Amino acid sequence: MAPGDLSHMLARKSLSDLYRIRETVDRLITDRESGEGVVEERRSGSRTYRLELVYCGKGCRGCPHGPYWYCYWKEGGRTRSRYIGKILPKEAMQI
Ligand SMILES: [Zn+2]
Repeated sequence: MAPGDLSHMLARKSLSDLYRIRETVDRLITDRESGEGVVEERRSGSRTYRLELVYCGKGCRGCPHGPYWYCYWKEGGRTRSRYIGKILPKEAMQI
């Protein structure tokens, strides 16, 4: 999703919705940073592959979702991540 699309979408939300979204995002960031929900972690060079349980924050009955594999790496001083999927292909470890 492009950053412009996101702000356009959020601009149409009510203030109370925006507060709820902020709380949800804060919780997701805290969970991610604390490593909560990380089932497995593999390193390949400068990349880290993590199998994570995902809490969507919608209070749905399917939570947590996954686990799904994500790839993390540093680029220009920032941590970047990419969603991989339920299965970590062997090729992914060689990127
Ligand atoms: Zn859910």
